[in-house]
Amino acid sequence: MKIIKNINQIQNLVKKIKYKNKTIGFVPTMGYLHDGHLSLIKKAKLETDVVVVSIFVNPTQFGYTEDYANYPRNFDRDIKLSKKVGVNLLFHPEVKSMYPDEHLTYVEVERLTQSLCGASRPGHFRGVTTIVTKLFNIVQPDIAYFGQKDAQQVYVVKKMAKDLNISVKIKILPTIREKDGLAISSRNGYLNPEERKQARCLYQALKEARKLIKNKCEYNPGKIKRTMQKIIERNNKTKIDYIEIVDCKNLEPVKKIKGKVLIALAVHIGNTRLIDNITVK
Ligand code: AMP
Repeated sequence: MKIIKNINQIQNLVKKIKYKNKTIGFVPTMGYLHDGHLSLIKKAKLETDVVVVSIFVNPTQFGYTEDYANYPRNFDRDIKLSKKVGVNLLFHPEVKSMYPDEHLTYVEVERLTQSLCGASRPGHFRGVTTIVTKLFNIVQPDIAYFGQKDAQQVYVVKKMAKDLNISVKIKILPTIREKDGLAISSRNGYLNPEERKQARCLYQALKEARKLIKNKCEYNPGKIKRTMQKIIERNNKTKIDYIEIVDCKNLEPVKKIKGKVLIALAVHIGNTRLIDNITVK
């Protein structure tokens, strides 16, 4: 496994890989790797010749009051895990090389970024689409792998790649969960034992919503959201940011449940904001 910090160096390697007609699978991450990230890397390993993983905590996707400085980092551990799952190139650029002082260009997807997480994290998706565009330009992947856990990010990145004619196939893989259902996240480590216990309510609420739709034919989103809210608010450390039921095609809230919907939520547990979602047909 090669560890590369320098942008020119990885661009030269990419040229050589392309010259040999080998395919590149790419997994962009902010590091502190866990089983969710590893599931993406393993899939890339199966489907492409050369697997590139980036580890970059991207400052432009964090708001001023958010956890950029404290975001968990453990590069030595990330190296070990990456080697274990067969990553070929680990790209770990410095902030000042990705965003030199003279950096003035940003990429923004309209409309899709206004709702859900975009509403409570203004500027977040602008940061995401900017860094993903830059990484796509540098790595030039044939296939890029993303997790369903960040459902809105998936929609936004897909739309960006389509609108900007970036020739990459984007694959989405299922959310990997802890045994009790909590979606694995680098931020779960912020939770104290009591908060960790209460955090189970996110997936419990999503599962209950699915049950209401599938088993009880409840198609009123308002009623479903109220039930979910009750399940979450039984836990005294929780504060709901949003619970939404949206159309899978355009992320617009639905008035009645039909077709395929995305049920998404963001909840603060103590000081930690967690997100999760499921789709229901
Ligand atoms: P992050 O390092 O949090 O930016 O995540 C990097 C990639 O891993 C994104 O595509 C995430 O959606 C994906 N990811 C994060 N957590 C999970 C999980 N629990 N299951 C599947 N994919 C995940």
